[in-house]
Amino acid sequence: MVKDSFTLKRHRMVEEQIRARGIHDERLLAAMRDIPRHRFVPTILSTRAYDDGPLPIGESQTISQPYIVAEMTDALKLSGTEKVLEIGTGSGYQTAILRGLAREVVTVERLHLLQTSAEKTLRELGIEDVRFRIADGSLGIPDEAPFDRIIVTAAAPGVPPPLFAQLSNGGILVIPIGGRWEQNLLRVTKENGKERKEFLGGCRFVPLIGQYGFPD
Ligand code: SAM
Repeated sequence: MVKDSFTLKRHRMVEEQIRARGIHDERLLAAMRDIPRHRFVPTILSTRAYDDGPLPIGESQTISQPYIVAEMTDALKLSGTEKVLEIGTGSGYQTAILRGLAREVVTVERLHLLQTSAEKTLRELGIEDVRFRIADGSLGIPDEAPFDRIIVTAAAPGVPPPLFAQLSNGGILVIPIGGRWEQNLLRVTKENGKERKEFLGGCRFVPLIGQYGFPD
C-alpha cells in the first residue's frame, strides 16, 4: 500500500509522541493513526498538523497537542460502551477520536464558527453520528445526562458542580483545573456519589468561559 506523507507523519507521531511517552492502549493508538489530524487545522498549517504541540484554529482557540489528546483520552478508560460528553469541540479532532472509542458522543462548543467547521469536517470524514450542541458547557447538557464519561478540553478554576451531577455512578470526568495560564489535569471518578480525585500532571489549556469557568 502506498502511504502519503501525512500518513507517514501520523504513524511517526503515534510512535514517537504517544507510545514512546507511555501510552499503550492499542485501540487509542489505532484511532490516532486513523484520524487525519491535518484535516482539523487551517490548510496553511496542515504540514505542521503532526508536530509535537498545539496549533491555532481561529477564534483565539487551539487544537491540543497530540500527546495531550492521547493522555486525556487514555485517562477516560474507554471500553467502547460509554456515552461521552465532550466540552470544547474546537476543531472536532478530539471528538473524532472519542467517536471511534465510545458508544455515543455529545459535544458542546460555545463558539458557532468552530462548531460549524468541526461538524463539516466530521461529516466530510464520514463521521455522522456525533451530537453537536452550542451552549455554555460548564453547565453540562442536562437533557442528555447521565454521562459515563465527561472530558473538558478547556481549563476551569474547579470542577463545575453540574458536570459532577451529570456523571453516572462509576463515571469518570477528566478536566484541567487551575488558573487561566497553568493547570493540573484532574481525573474525578464518581464512587457511590462521592468524588475520588487523581492529579495526572501539569498542563496548559485555553480557559473554559462560562458560569463555572472564567469570565469572558
Ligand atoms: N478538543 C478540541 C480539539 O480537539 O480541537 C480543542 C479544544 S480548545 C483547547 C477549547 C475549546 O473550548 C475552544 O474551542 C473553546 O471555544 C471551547 N470552550 C471554552 N469555554 C467553553 C464553554 N463554556 N462551553 C463550551 N465550549 C467552551
